[in-house]
Amino acid sequence: LAKNLDYLATLPAETADGHRVRLWVNTGLMADVVRSLERGAEGVGLYRTEVPFLLRDRFPSEEEQREIYREQLEAFAPRPVTMRTLDIGGDKALAYFPIEETNPFLGWRGIRVTLDHPEIFLGQVRAMMKASLGLDNLRIMLPMISGIGELVSARKLVERAHAELVDEGFDIAMPPLGIMIEVPSAVYQARELAEQADFISVGSNDLTQYLLAVDRSNSRVAGIYHSLHPAVLRALQEIITAGHEAGTKVGICGELAGDPGGALLLMAMGYDVLSMNATNLPRVKAALRAVTKPEADELLQRVLPMHSPQEIEHTVRDYLTEMG
Ligand code: PEP
Ligand code: MG
Repeated sequence: LAKNLDYLATLPAETADGHRVRLWVNTGLMADVVRSLERGAEGVGLYRTEVPFLLRDRFPSEEEQREIYREQLEAFAPRPVTMRTLDIGGDKALAYFPIEETNPFLGWRGIRVTLDHPEIFLGQVRAMMKASLGLDNLRIMLPMISGIGELVSARKLVERAHAELVDEGFDIAMPPLGIMIEVPSAVYQARELAEQADFISVGSNDLTQYLLAVDRSNSRVAGIYHSLHPAVLRALQEIITAGHEAGTKVGICGELAGDPGGALLLMAMGYDVLSMNATNLPRVKAALRAVTKPEADELLQRVLPMHSPQEIEHTVRDYLTEMG
């Protein structure tokens, strides 16, 4: 692939035979926004709201949050911005909200925390919706969903916040509400979840960690964390099938989407949105533009029966090398 990929920013994200894929970005800081726009990002698939929370020494107020979210929404408008509700716990700790647990990855994380603290959740979604006034490009996404009940409870809260804002005189539409699929139990309920969510997005970092029982932040076991493990590929396929059967758009916002080989396989599976760090966007776009859909399908069919993650990795790497 060419070394200087700047020319790609304005070219469409499509395969050589015209199969379109949405290439979106993951953001957290305003600096990510600038880089993303320069690289021609078509939307934000994951805005990690915990980033501004991590940079402070106390919870930001609703008004402070509104200002931060407004900047993100405005910078990308009219392109969609997917704001994830607070995903703390696990590897993301707020100094001013300590969580002491022996097993944080299996503990109080993501939606579990905010459903137990509806005041945090409501303040956050109110700030997001207020920030979207006049822009209409907000999507709200829930992290760490492990069952239907959490989606139902969270939707009630979002609807309540929306109704309150309308009562207060804000003229805003109810934003699409989606979920992350990153807990194995959600894979097995993907069909039902997809029927009740407006979109679904795979968090392949956590999903891989939980499927393989390998701590994503523990270097001792990094050698057995395989994002192209056959079990992960099978889960990714089941999610897309279930999502599309329900008529719901399916994206992915884990690191796998930003890996050119991973992106080819995901595109072949039919993923509608690949959301990645802006740094990876040009590389991924170049790889997609260099293949046809049938060629990527063929690569996918070649690796799916393989039992060894290393064999899959080598096959994909060799394929990319041959492509140039
Ligand atoms: C993921 O788990 O894949 C993901 C995108 O979320 P995070 O990395 O923020 O946990
Ligand atoms: Mg995650």
